[in-house]
Amino acid sequence: LPLVAICGRPNVGKSTLFNRLTDSRRSIVGDEPGITRDRIYGQIEWAGRDVRIVDTGGVVPDDEALIPSEIFRQAQVALEEADAVVMVVDGRTELASPDMELARLLLRGGKPTFLAVNKIDNVEMQNAAQNFRRLGFRNVMTISAEHGHGIGDLLDAVYEVLPEDRPEVEEEPLSYDELEARDEAEADAAPIRKQRTHGEYESRETKVAIIGRPNVGKSTLLNALTETNRAIVSPIAGTTRDAVDEIVERKGHLFRFVDTAGIRRKGKTKLMAEKLSVIMARKHLEAADVSLLVIDATEGVTGIDANIGGYAHESGRSVIIVINKWDLVTTARTDGKPPVDQKVYAQQVRDALKYLEYAPLLFISAAPADGDKPRAINEVFAKVELVARERRKRVSTGQMNKFLEKVDFQRASVPMNKRVKIYYMTQAQVAPPTFVLFTDKDVKMHFSFERFLANQIRENFGFIGSPIWFKIRARN
Ligand code: GDP
Repeated sequence: LPLVAICGRPNVGKSTLFNRLTDSRRSIVGDEPGITRDRIYGQIEWAGRDVRIVDTGGVVPDDEALIPSEIFRQAQVALEEADAVVMVVDGRTELASPDMELARLLLRGGKPTFLAVNKIDNVEMQNAAQNFRRLGFRNVMTISAEHGHGIGDLLDAVYEVLPEDRPEVEEEPLSYDELEARDEAEADAAPIRKQRTHGEYESRETKVAIIGRPNVGKSTLLNALTETNRAIVSPIAGTTRDAVDEIVERKGHLFRFVDTAGIRRKGKTKLMAEKLSVIMARKHLEAADVSLLVIDATEGVTGIDANIGGYAHESGRSVIIVINKWDLVTTARTDGKPPVDQKVYAQQVRDALKYLEYAPLLFISAAPADGDKPRAINEVFAKVELVARERRKRVSTGQMNKFLEKVDFQRASVPMNKRVKIYYMTQAQVAPPTFVLFTDKDVKMHFSFERFLANQIRENFGFIGSPIWFKIRARN
């Protein structure tokens, strides 16, 4: 579905507009203190079309200093994924310089843009709105999100520019033979399959997010990864100074560490820092192909680690679990405890992060306490390269169904009435590998069945480090 993004500074009325559009009465105040809200998506129907709307009010930490850069960051994301952008300003205030900066960013983005001058409740105020024409938008509308004035006109104007609805990708289910023929034809036509990445370009670089709690060693790891190799620093076009990616070339492979300023950012208090680390993780995941989930070996997997790991799992990105500060638990320990056994330790991590069973585990020291050089950094690069390759792998329908014939489904511990019969299956997508199952019943897959099948697929085809997604198509 086409996506419309709503951008603007805090308190200009973005959420009121969003709620007005989506008719949602849902509270937008986050339950965690210090965080006003997250990105919110909604869906509306207008003139017979479904359109998605995102309120990019964004993650706005309760910290004045962070607000401007967060708004810009959100706007940047909006520009990448949206088909049209609506910037909201408060018509009752003077034109302020952050508005101008934001406008400049949005207008440069190459997407259709609209300016909604909000809080214009009566005719007299229409004049005041004229001021905002200086922002340079061609499409300027006055609205009152609160009273519902001008909303219909705004929607009409936006709808004009939205792309035609694309037909659903999943057409009528093809027969097994047709699928096989299609695979072969595709393989002939495109021997090298490129991965579609965020942004609008395709490339062979791997985008890496370093995520984890405060003080687990994310910045230290980033330094180790970039210092051993030549790093190219590239600001993300149009954003403020603090949004920076670092790119490392190693053995002909490009690694882009996303938002390295964000990786280094620290919150002022411990609580704030922890909350920020979760927020950052989610944002970094959005921009990445592969994530490095960094765990502090001296502390083991904590609740927040598991929380961040959960987001990584759900994001569809590949995951590598990096146990850092390994030097501190294997050598003579300052806390008097005996050195840990790597196998036992690995099992504990696995037990605490069950859903990430597909993620490789690495034990490293980004900055050993003895001042020696970082350990196992090359393994990090090698693993990132491996999982990046694995997530783009494609299994032909022929191979898939030969495999399917051999699977002994009796071994899956699934209640009889929850079993589905799979006629055949095909890999519909890569990154993450996504399989469509053609079944006898249109039911949600039982989780243990899904897990069984995913494990069988992994045993046969690998897909190391990547989650595996399924879709059901009932044939009746
Ligand atoms: P971040 O908040 O996750 O970015 O954590 P930092 O990179 O700032 O690291 C927190 C602390 O852990 C710093 O004092 C680092 O020097 C230390 N540290 C990081 N990696 C290692 C390691 O491998 N071994 C030891 N002993 N200390 C480390």
